[in-house]
Order: sequence, then structure tokens, then C-alpha cells
Amino acid sequence: MKTIGLLGGMSWESTELYYRLINEGVKQRLGGLHSACMAMVSIDFHELEVLQHRGEWEGAGVMLADAAERVEAAGADFLLICTNTMHKVVPQIEQRINIPILHIVDATAQRIKSDGIQTVGLLGTNFTMEQDFYKGRLTEQHQLNVMVPSEQDRQTVHQIIYDELCLGIVKDISRQKYLNIIEQMREAGAEGVIAGCTEIVMLVQQQHTDVPLFDTTAIHAEVAVGFACGDQTV
Ligand code: GLU
Repeated sequence: MKTIGLLGGMSWESTELYYRLINEGVKQRLGGLHSACMAMVSIDFHELEVLQHRGEWEGAGVMLADAAERVEAAGADFLLICTNTMHKVVPQIEQRINIPILHIVDATAQRIKSDGIQTVGLLGTNFTMEQDFYKGRLTEQHQLNVMVPSEQDRQTVHQIIYDELCLGIVKDISRQKYLNIIEQMREAGAEGVIAGCTEIVMLVQQQHTDVPLFDTTAIHAEVAVGFACGDQTV
């Protein structure tokens, strides 16, 4: 079995989900007392969040590349960056490591396409919903149509991620806000919605809506288990 590298702590609330999902996936595949081989570096999210909101992406990239080097040195065969947003700095990280990165957008897009969906809504941080590193990859590399909420709704989605979910706070009223936004995107033509932030699954799960929901945390973890167990190479 390959060793899965995790760049975590963004936030630790979702890294905990990755750790559990990956171990459960390996147990399901291999049975008995099998568990996943993992190497993780978990950063201080406060330090990163300050850089993000100041727009200091260069510094954020250095911070994550330093951490990724440590994951590689700990023996990882490939790397998962346990956040959608920080895939923004993948090019900086790739320059500093020799192991491949299992990109969350590629894993998610494959699943969307294999479900026969062409037009998706995207929920995530403002960085993810507005910038090209994420939407651009979905449209240009995977030929998907991507819709995002209105500016005011994007702000709501973003605030709930940082002020609640990354702090482990899950509120019914926030779930209702997300469900209303999902419904609006469906009415505007979305055939499914990407939960494009690794904490969203804490708030909204498939049981809450009949719009197909693509949980990036679960998809990323599941594809990683497949790679670790030899399905294919990253
Ligand atoms: N975990 C979140 C994501 O998937 C947000 C936290 C971050 O900014 O990395 O985008």
C-alpha cells in the first residue's frame, strides 16, 4: 500500500474527516485490521487565514510548500492538499516537491462527468467561487459549465465557512441559507452542486437536498484510497 501524504489543518475540522474517511476506505477495501498508511503535516490555520485575507498568496504558497516538503520527507508517495481554496498555490508547491499532487478539482470533475452532469453550481470560499484556479480548471480542463451564487450569496457562503464551520460551529439557520442558495442554483439550471469547501459537508449532506451534491472531501479521500491501494497512479 502507498503512503498518502496529507497537508492538513485547513481547517483541522475537515482534516479530521479526511483521516477518518481514508482509514474507513482502506478498511472497507482490505478488511480486518487494515488501516491507511499516512504522513501528515497540519499547519496553524490562523497564520494562513491572515495571509489569505490580505491577498498574500505568495507567502501562503511558501508556507504550504514548506509543509509539503516535510510531508514528502516523512515518506508520502503522493500528496493531498486537504482544502479546495489552497489549490490556488499548487504551482508553487509542485516546484518544491517530487511526489505528485492528487488535485481535488480533477477528482471531483471525474465524478461529476461520470454521473452524466454537465452544468454544476459551485459553493466554497470567495477565493474558490471567484478565482480562476478552480472554476477555470473545471471549465477548461474538464469542459463543465460552472455557476456561482450572486455576490451577496457568495458573501454569506464565505462567512459561514470562516466564522462557523472552520470553528466547528454548525447552525440550522446557516444550513437553511445554504439550501436556499442551492435551490436557486438549481432553478437557474444547475444539475448538481459542488460542495467545494472541505467543511461544507459538516453543514449540508445529500440527505438535506435532492440536488446531487458533490462532496469534495469524500471524493478526494475516496480517490486517494484507490490510488493508495493500487487502482492507478496519480
Ligand atoms: N477548507 C476550506 C476549503 O476547502 C476553506 C479553508 C481554507 O481556506 O483553506 O476551501
